[in-house]
Amino acid sequence: MDASLDRQHLWHPYTSLSHPRPVDPVATTRENRIFLEDGTPLIDGISSWWCAAHGYCRPEIVQAIQAQAARMPHVMFGGLTHEPAMELARRLLTLLPPGLDRIFYADSGSIAVEVALKMAFQYQHALGRTGRTRVAALRGGYHGDTIGAMSVSDPEEMHSIFRGILPQQYFVPSPQCPFHEPWREESFRPMEQLLEEHQGEIAAVILEPIFQGANAMWFYHPEYLRRLRKLCDHYDIVLIFDEIATGFGRTGERFACHHAGVVPDVMCIGKALTAGAITMACAITCQRIADPIPVLLHGPTYMGNPMACAVACASLDLFQSYDWKAHVKRIEAKLQELLPQYRSLPNVQDVRVLGAVGVLDVKKIPDEEAVRKLVLETGVWLRPESHFIYTMPPFITPDEDVVRIAEAMGRMAEL
Ligand code: PMP
Repeated sequence: MDASLDRQHLWHPYTSLSHPRPVDPVATTRENRIFLEDGTPLIDGISSWWCAAHGYCRPEIVQAIQAQAARMPHVMFGGLTHEPAMELARRLLTLLPPGLDRIFYADSGSIAVEVALKMAFQYQHALGRTGRTRVAALRGGYHGDTIGAMSVSDPEEMHSIFRGILPQQYFVPSPQCPFHEPWREESFRPMEQLLEEHQGEIAAVILEPIFQGANAMWFYHPEYLRRLRKLCDHYDIVLIFDEIATGFGRTGERFACHHAGVVPDVMCIGKALTAGAITMACAITCQRIADPIPVLLHGPTYMGNPMACAVACASLDLFQSYDWKAHVKRIEAKLQELLPQYRSLPNVQDVRVLGAVGVLDVKKIPDEEAVRKLVLETGVWLRPESHFIYTMPPFITPDEDVVRIAEAMGRMAEL
């Protein structure tokens, strides 16, 4: 494969075309392996940005795509419906927290977040609260790359240059109370104060429950969500949980909100929903929010794509076909056994593990070229995010590969 065309013409995520970063051509993927074009196998330590939960090329998923493609790859969802869309809804309704039963099919995680925000604004608007035009969010949060989703993501991390054009939202510090430590009441104060002072302007609160991913790699206490649920009820502020990364078992529970026993008003899911095979996400709400909305103002071209729905159904079947929870526990135990040894490295400031997520929080961001060399040398595909060297492997990753992932993370922390 001649990658020069790629270098000249193709943007990759978060890159420049004037100084393109090196990219390695991939030929195939299988189970938890990515095979480069020259045949080099890489253990995938990050499930293709956390979506390939069952590994790659599962026959059930491939078969679902082929069968649906042969029947009807796509048809518009405006004015029409189809069995894959209804079948997926049927299955989701048995899995989702109680009351969350009004489903919008979106084409990516960011779009699901946009739709969730619209649901909140339209709900408040319908009740005559036209002054409620802002959203409260957490520092260290990440919700996607579209303008609305960026506006509620960490204001420093990714988009300071867009400051002038982004809707202005309210932010409070990332919850300071770690998941594994006793609850500290003061960690909720900033949110309490914000909602009290600005209740008349705030339509919704959005956050990633329990695990702040891309921008923080941080696990916080479930009590935060219980407090927030009560407060949002009190002010009738719409509570949105972005479970795009946490959903489908990543933190050890099917949805991260289960750690807290809290049900949001709107929930976004994506990524593992379609098992790393095709793009799809959902924004799901309850009757109380949906009923007052006269017309929800969103309708993408590929909404409810039948192939994506069929893949999601196959992925949900796969979740039922093996004990994913036991695998997540196994990976968690292995990461807990292996990663803490790196705490003593001078470059490591913290080590965190929850579910099938392991993080080395380092002081110095590892050099990109050195990371690439190490990936090829160790045969482990990792891609640090800012100063986080992390893993979120497919749930089927065997212990011996978790060991290799942990070793590669340790070496990366020394670069
Ligand atoms: N929300 C969260 C919590 C995410 O982790 C991501 C993607 N990393 C998104 C939203 C955006 O999803 P997508 O990339 O599919 O637009």
